[in-house]
Formats: sequence, C-alpha cells, structure tokens
Amino acid sequence: MNTFKDLGLNDDLLQAITDLGFTKPSEVQEKAIPILLNSETDLVALAQTGTGKTAAFGFPMLQKIDVDSRTTQGLILSPTRELCLQITNEMKLYGKYCKGLNVVAVYGGSSITDQAREIKRGAQIIVATPGRMKDMINRRLVDISKIQYSVLDEADEMLNMGFKEDITDILSHTPEDKNTWLFSATMPREVATIAKKFMYDPEEITVGKKNESTSNVSHEYYLVNARDRYQALKRLSDANPDIFSVIFCRTKRDTQKVAENLIEDGYSAGALHGDLSQNQRDLVMKSFRNQQIQMLVATDVAARGIDVDDITHVINYQLPDEIETYTHRSGRTGRAGKTGVSMVIVSKSEVRKIKSIERIINQQFEKKEIPDGSEICEVQLMSLANKIHNTEINHEIDKHLASINELFADTDKDELIKKFFSVEFTRFYNYYQKSKDLNVAESSSDREGGRDFSRGGKDSTRYFINVGGKDGFDWMKLKDFLKEQLGLGRDDVFKVETKDSFSFFNTENELKEKVLAHFTDFKHEGRFVNVEVSENRGGGGRRDRKGGGKRRDDKRGGGGRRDDRKSGSGNRSDRRKSEGSSKPRRSNSSDFASSRPRRSRR
Ligand code: AMP
Repeated sequence: MNTFKDLGLNDDLLQAITDLGFTKPSEVQEKAIPILLNSETDLVALAQTGTGKTAAFGFPMLQKIDVDSRTTQGLILSPTRELCLQITNEMKLYGKYCKGLNVVAVYGGSSITDQAREIKRGAQIIVATPGRMKDMINRRLVDISKIQYSVLDEADEMLNMGFKEDITDILSHTPEDKNTWLFSATMPREVATIAKKFMYDPEEITVGKKNESTSNVSHEYYLVNARDRYQALKRLSDANPDIFSVIFCRTKRDTQKVAENLIEDGYSAGALHGDLSQNQRDLVMKSFRNQQIQMLVATDVAARGIDVDDITHVINYQLPDEIETYTHRSGRTGRAGKTGVSMVIVSKSEVRKIKSIERIINQQFEKKEIPDGSEICEVQLMSLANKIHNTEINHEIDKHLASINELFADTDKDELIKKFFSVEFTRFYNYYQKSKDLNVAESSSDREGGRDFSRGGKDSTRYFINVGGKDGFDWMKLKDFLKEQLGLGRDDVFKVETKDSFSFFNTENELKEKVLAHFTDFKHEGRFVNVEVSENRGGGGRRDRKGGGKRRDDKRGGGGRRDDRKSGSGNRSDRRKSEGSSKPRRSNSSDFASSRPRRSRR
C-alpha cells in the first residue's frame, strides 16, 4: 500500500494531509494522483462521491499550478452550488500551505460582483457551477483562456441537470491543449460522448466496478402496502434511535408533506426541495450538518451535492423514476470509509424494480421485515439504558440529592430504575402496543420483470380509458402515451390492455389523484380522452359506470374522487387511527434522555 509521499506529493500538501488526519490514500487517489502528477494527460475516472475524488484531482492540480502567478490555471465545474462550495473548502484545506494560493467559488444565488472582485485579485483556481460560469464569461468578468487543467466533476449529474450546452460553451473559451479530468459516478452514453468530444486519448480509471455503488453500503428493502409507507418510515426511524438520514421522495409535494408529518409527529426532520428559497435551503442544510436535524427529507434534485460524511441511513421513501438515480441516492451514505445502509420502502407494484437496481449496482438487496412494536420498544429501551449509562453526571444535582433521596427512601433500586425508565419508555410502549404487522408477503413473480398480470392487488388502481386499437394504440403505445402525459417512470403504468375502442391500465393507488386530475377535460388530437376508475382491479376490467357519462358532464366526478382518495393511501386521521395515537410523542418535560432541541447522537 502506497503512502501519500510514495504518490509523489510535495511537502506542502503532505503537511496539510497530516493536519487533516488522512493516514492513507483512498483507491481513487492511489490510482489517479500518480497519473496526473507524472503526465500531461486527460483522464476519465469512474468514482462515486465519498471516495475521496476531490483530493484525487485536487492534490495534483495544487501541485502543478504556479501559485506565484495570478493567472487562472485551473477550472473545476460541478453541478450544484452546494458541491461547488464543498470543493472550494476542500481545496483551500488541501492547499493551506501553498503560499499565495487563491481558490474562488463561482455559483448562482450570490453576488456576481463580489465573485468577480475576488477573481480579479488573482484566482489560480476557480470552482464553478456551469450556469454562473457562463454568465461570467458572457459579461467578461473572467478569463479562462489560459487554463491548463479543467475538471468536470460529477459529470453525469451535470448532464442530468441539463448543463451540456453550458459546459460545451464554457470549454470553447479554454485552450485546446489543456488537460481535462472527468469524474463521474456512472458512465451513461451522454458522458461517454462528452469524453469523446473534449478529451484526447484519456487515461481511464475505475474505482470498484462500473456503475457499482460504494461497497460499504448495504441495501435493504421493505415490502409494505403503499398506504403504510409513512408508518413504515416511522418504524424504521424508531428502530434506529441514532439515525442520521436522508429520506428521498419523488416529488416536492411529497417531500414537504412527509417532512411536515414527521415534524408534527415529534421527529427532528426538515424538508429540502426546489420550492424553498435559497435562504431556507441553506438554513435546513446548516441544521442538518450540525445534526440538529436527524431526518432530512429531500428530492433528488435538491439533494444533489449533499456532502455530509456521517449519514447512517438513506431511506428511499419512494423509488426514483429513473432507477439509475438510486446510485446517487445510496452514495450519500457509506462515505469516507464508514458503513451505511440504504433502505427502500416498496409496495408490491414496485418490487420488481429492485431486481433492475441490483443489476445496476451489482449488489444484492436483503429483504427485511419492518420491525414490530415489541422490537422497537426493546431497541428504544436499550438505547435509553446506554445513553443513561454514558451520561456524564451533572454535579449541580448534588445539592438537591438529599431531598431526592428522602423522596425515594422507600424505593428499592429495581423499582427506581423501572420508574426512571418508564418516564421515557411508556410513550413508545403505549404507541406500539397495539401496532399491526406492516409487512406484505412477496410472491416469486413480484420481483420478475415483464408484463406481470398477476399484480393488481388492493394497492393498485385500475382505470378505464376511452381510447383503444381503433385510435391507433396497442398496449405499448398506450403505455408510452400515458407515461409521457403523466411524467411517470417505466414501471409506473402497468397491466395495460387495449380493446378496440377502449383500454385499461393500472397505477399505484398513490398516483390515482394525479391520473384523474390530468385527464379531466383532457383533449388529444381534438377529442376528449376520458379516464375513470375501473371496478375490476385485475386483468380485463369493467368500467365503474355508477357515475355514468363522461367526466366533464359528471356532477359527481369531484366527490367520487374524494371518496376514492379516502379509501386509498389514507388521510392523516386514518393514519392515526391505524396505529393508535398519532405518535410516540416526546413529552418535553420528561424528555431527560434526548437532549432537545438538539439531539446528540453520541
Ligand atoms: P470526496 O469523495 O472528495 O467528496 O471525499 C469525501 C470525504 O472523504 C471528504 O470529507 C474528504 O475530506 C475525506 N477524504 C478524502 N480523502 C481521504 C483519505 N485519504 N482518508 C480519509 N478521508 C479522506
């Protein structure tokens, strides 16, 4: 095993590395640093976040640039503001003994004039998000015509976020003979195309297998009814009292709702999504980083670039539309040599996506059971016992000890302990004593691909649609049409069956509102397309004609849908009813063990 010194790093960097406490190079550092130090070459590196890739390109760049010159020599492009700031901070730490070094972050949502002023002072390295960088180039606030090294960090994310044109435009202002180092977690075709277009005979390195998620992350899935998703989330959290997690939802609305419900239910949670202002997002991230928030509920877009090292769990409250996104989600845990768990809460209709994900990450999922009430109570009790055991004594209590002792003069030790623990434990016990089993049995066909006509239980909704074969639809065309109209993923519309003048299809119950709302007063090629909930959940299907007529004439339409919603995923009062009181609420007065408002995890 090489040391940092063996890799050829100079004393300034080695000193900073010692200060940072890095004892040995990570795999990507061991592979990339000698190549980048010893040759003037382009590089394609397949590496996840959390593998130490910032240092893998940062150390060589810092060693190669001329800090005595004020010319901009290195440009690092990253997908998000968050990541841009993180890279800048890391580069400053790595280069703290490089006298005269100036690293400047350039990102949107902050004063462009301040950033321009900093660059004017002489920035050898600029770390930028593509949008703001392009803006600065257009306003001639920056000169990148002499850069020698460019880094495309998280290239797959940048392309996902639609920065391809900006990147192309930015690179057109840089010299032909610079070196480009591309880092990406995955290698979809678009990234390969970019590599081909901008790089000359690049060296290639892969950390772990291609597209593989970090191996110190274990993957688990929990099969529940869609309506029990939220209860399952709470149980997973309660069963892991020291959880410090990111919870991924598919939409901004769900993200907000889940976070609100968690907060209302006494958990330390926060929401992170694009409808929040930059200021609000910064505040949430600050609380999360400080671990004042234990559960950060986020959309994929907003969570890009979250770079917090101690995340213990990633919870996929819903699977992403594009299963490739799963790699990015699970890569938020298991960072910097630590282990992590990526949990997926799935309903029956989604369970076969697990198999596709296993192929992508090249790792097996373990099917696990949502813990029952007694397991959770035991975990909570033991966690409490450990916390008390490890608590430092506050000697302010000493002066009250005599009166307390007097009060407990007739209480023996066992009884005292039981009373003491009951203060905290009883709320969990009361909450969970009548809890039901949330687990759903899995049949062998559930995880297989293809058109699965065995599905269609009570967690999916079957619809009637008044278009069919004579309108030019076969099942595949109709599936594509519905996916496109509703903005859904490949597996979200299933059991599509076309007849001559009408058809049937299924979605999860959760999507019912969205589907019905979309096809209200909806016209396709000049005619009204009508979608209604069908009576029959399984194959075939008979349209529920009780409402009669087309939706736009249907006076009962709205009310009907409200009823459907009630019997579907469940409103808040249903949830409460289904698992006793709303939560194992923390009583502030008696909450001696959890250090509110900030919950200490150690
Ligand atoms: P990155 O993949 O660059 O986002 O790095 C993830 C985290 O690992 C950062 O907090 C780095 O400071 C840390 N790190 C990078 N290299 C090493 C190393 N060789 N040993 C320990 N930690 C490291």
